[in-house]
Amino acid sequence: MIATLGEVHDLGWRLRIYCREGKGSAMKKHRACTAYVDADLETLVWTRGRDFPIARLDSRMKCIRCGSRRVMVALEPPPVESRQRIRA
Ligand SMILES: [Zn+2]
Repeated sequence: MIATLGEVHDLGWRLRIYCREGKGSAMKKHRACTAYVDADLETLVWTRGRDFPIARLDSRMKCIRCGSRRVMVALEPPPVESRQRIRA
């Protein structure tokens, strides 16, 4: 279980932050916001520290497109192509 920024960094995983605005909403008029961003992990480790829990990241974040604070932090494994390139 990966729980801190340092662990994500060491394993070569990435953090992607999704906006959750509109998702699961009963209001049809409100379109789901699909904005997301690949977090700059290096900067996060530098500014928050290696022991900063991933679970606490979303409390500080805000969607650039709709301004919502309902965001979801997802762990992304390293791309398969880059792993193969390293092996070869
Ligand atoms: Zn949004």
